[in-house]
Amino acid sequence: MVMGSLPEDVDLAVIGAGVGGYIAAIRAAQLGLSVSLVEKNKLGGHCLNYACIPSKTLIHIADTFYSIKHSENFGIKADNATLDAQKMYDWRMGVSKKLEDGVGFLCKSNGVEVVKAEATFLSSNTLQLTNGTSLVFKKAIIATGSTPTTVTGFEFGGNVIDYKDALMLNKIPGSMAIIGAGYVSVEIGTLYAKMGTKVSIIARSDVLSKFDRDAVSLVKKRMEDLGIKIYTGAKPVSHSGNSLTLDNGQTVDAEIIVVAIGLVPFTQGLGLGNTEVSTDDKGFVRVDGTLQTTDPNILAVGDVIGEPMLAHKAMRQGVVAAEVAAGKKSGYDNTVVPAVIFSDPEIAIAGKIEGEGISVKKFPLSALGRAIALNKTAGFVKIAYDSNNIVKGVEIVSDDANAMIAEAVVAIEMGATLEDIADSIHPHPTFSEAVQEAAEAALGRSIHFFYGKSGKQA
Ligand SMILES: Cc1cc2nc3c(=O)[nH]c(=O)nc-3n(C[C@H](O)[C@H](O)[C@H](O)COP(=O)(O)OP(=O)(O)OC[C@H]3O[C@@H](n4cnc5c(N)ncnc54)[C@H](O)[C@@H]3O)c2cc1C
Repeated sequence: MVMGSLPEDVDLAVIGAGVGGYIAAIRAAQLGLSVSLVEKNKLGGHCLNYACIPSKTLIHIADTFYSIKHSENFGIKADNATLDAQKMYDWRMGVSKKLEDGVGFLCKSNGVEVVKAEATFLSSNTLQLTNGTSLVFKKAIIATGSTPTTVTGFEFGGNVIDYKDALMLNKIPGSMAIIGAGYVSVEIGTLYAKMGTKVSIIARSDVLSKFDRDAVSLVKKRMEDLGIKIYTGAKPVSHSGNSLTLDNGQTVDAEIIVVAIGLVPFTQGLGLGNTEVSTDDKGFVRVDGTLQTTDPNILAVGDVIGEPMLAHKAMRQGVVAAEVAAGKKSGYDNTVVPAVIFSDPEIAIAGKIEGEGISVKKFPLSALGRAIALNKTAGFVKIAYDSNNIVKGVEIVSDDANAMIAEAVVAIEMGATLEDIADSIHPHPTFSEAVQEAAEAALGRSIHFFYGKSGKQA
């Protein structure tokens, strides 16, 4: 068989070069396996090219633009600030390209063979590739990710777009209607509202319906302040021109319609029927605690195996799957997978903040020096702990919540107590002090907030 530089036989074939796949490939190569990484589109997959990184890049630009225009309190007047959408687009695309190239460099440096092709299983040890070659493997890792779903009557095309296209606009739309009210809708809606777009969110029940209402109420308030109109309990029925109609007859301005109702596992064309891999009733690939599928030769990681569909979960699973494929004793047994919503303010959660035997203490940012200085006092930290003071969960609603939550993850994974956090010196003046303050408050020794004589939360 003619296969160019491709090895005919490899120890490991990884299908999909998203964050789950490329990390698995690199880790396996580090462990001495010969590895081929097969990707039909871009190295870095959705996270680097279409989702996490582009959304956070644009959120940063929107925040910068909005803050410049709204800094009168600090004595800054810049009413005439403008946004060059083409330049913004070029920057956003440039960031993804840089990261994509970085993944290529890391793969090459670690001896991973990257193959640009679509892969289909012919059997439990052979893949057919669209470049006309085939690949025989001892082990394979499926890392094919997920794809957005649509709504009847709002199929993608014309001005109806998915999250990827919404993060690749080179002009700021006058109006945008977003169908769906999960974190993707909130992030996209908030960023465009800050750039001046008239944003409407159409929610079947409510915005971020699966999250703590205490946290969501602050985010909703901010969205409303930004002029975002939230239609709760509404169903979109049709659209025409720049308008969308709801089931109650209301019409919504919609130069652009973004459908963001969720993601489904992507296994199309993968030929799973030629293997022993099985899927659940939603189409997610079934795995055990070592990420082994029902086919002894095949493992799977990332979005394709189910919730939570988050990049950092896929990354950890990539490492574990590679180690298992290399015959090492490894397992996906993390206690917590943190989640961050890059809303305004951000919401970050690790572990659980309610449940039997769990107590919760809340520290408000209105009592934090850093938050007052930055005029960012809408927020709080909640810390949850058991009867032995072991930390079980932390929820942060704050600027920098994305970085602060890492402390909570380590604390929970290590079985830390309230005292461990309260007695560790946190740098001042930072938002991270709010986590320490919450732990101190839970111990009944709050300094910077007065909870009443009993020390109990008001
Ligand atoms: C708008 C948005 C924002 C997000 N923001 C965040 C965030 O801030 N933080 C976070 O943790 N998560 C975020 N996510 C989720 C995150 O993007 C995903 O969890 C992550 O990308 C999943 O990685 P993966 O490796 O499983 O799959 P993917 O990144 O989807 O990669 C799968 C790859 O497989 C390739 N592929 C598929 N089939 C084949 C085949 N047969 N042959 C060859 N190649 C194939 C695809 O082309 C793709 O490149 C966000 C998601 C969205 C939609």
